[in-house]
Amino acid sequence: MPQRNDIRNVAIVAHVDHGKTTLVDAMLWQSGVFADHDTVEKRGERVMDSGDLEREKGITILAKNTAVHYRGPSAQKLGLADGITINVIDTPGHADFGGEVERGLSMVDGVLLLVDAAEGPLPQTRFVLRKALHAKLPVVVVVNKVDRPDQRIEEVVSETTDLLLSLAEDLVNEGVDVDLDAMLDVPVIYASAKLGKSSLECPPFGEVPTENLEPLFETLLTRIPGPSYEEGAPLQAHVTNLDASPFLGRIALLRIHNGEIRKGQTVAWSRHDGQLSNVRITELLVTEGLERVPAEVAHAGDIVAVAGIPDITIGESLVDVDDPRPLPLITVDDPAISMT
Ligand code: GDP
Repeated sequence: MPQRNDIRNVAIVAHVDHGKTTLVDAMLWQSGVFADHDTVEKRGERVMDSGDLEREKGITILAKNTAVHYRGPSAQKLGLADGITINVIDTPGHADFGGEVERGLSMVDGVLLLVDAAEGPLPQTRFVLRKALHAKLPVVVVVNKVDRPDQRIEEVVSETTDLLLSLAEDLVNEGVDVDLDAMLDVPVIYASAKLGKSSLECPPFGEVPTENLEPLFETLLTRIPGPSYEEGAPLQAHVTNLDASPFLGRIALLRIHNGEIRKGQTVAWSRHDGQLSNVRITELLVTEGLERVPAEVAHAGDIVAVAGIPDITIGESLVDVDDPRPLPLITVDDPAISMT
């Protein structure tokens, strides 16, 4: 199957407070999303934790995406002037709100597992990590907060490796078809999201990495493949989340698995009741940094938002009018939790 090299779809899995928001913030900041003058203000607002319910509970519930355009060596080698787009999907780190984790993972081709250098992996991340391994997603471990004076990096790395090993063994014992070698061949990056630094080597005690996030970006790009798709296949896109806009009404967040979507196009909406209805895409939006911006067309592998289908719900799909091939439904959430 052909594969895109200009995009990566990645989920971040982390326990609350291990630094997910700070890391995505630093990735955006280093790829030039924030102009110097608004850095402090914008960075002060927490990038990924924006929903009210999330704020109230202090946790992340909605799988949202942030697009980072990386223009470092890998992008330059490919001659991609706009860089490689890394869509970072936020997943709940610790509990499942009825399919939330599955839906987040269904959008991505790999996982960044972020672990605090002092606290180590906490049992709650086991659930999400198991699902990622089950889905055969490659994992990149980021040991974050290596600047903490109470860091215990080496122990934390071995605890993380043990966790991966025990999950892999469980899956094998349950007869799940997994590639054990691939699953356990996991790179480790040492990072301080707060300082915007990373390294492939464990920093000596009391020191912090001196490089920016390039080692992290480059490892992510090498280890996590670009989205693959079927050449010439008709449109197949999955609704993985919903949002609402005062101007556009309900917005569906989709991953396009095959084909393309154009603004103004009529597509077939494959509903939960098994029926197909023709609907028009009145607006197509792609993520740029933290914002959604209008686009004319999006392709297989892209994560997009569409407006124009007021009753669309999570788990449904958009397919080709003339050659409809609906995707399997993903578990439905409590709509009250899914709507912002
Ligand atoms: P999230 O809940 O995973 O999104 O975590 P946040 O990004 O909100 O970070 C939680 C806390 O850890 C905040 O007080 C951050 O400033 C702090 N933090 C994040 N990254 C680092 C780091 O690399 N080093 C240190 N010392 N603190 C960090």
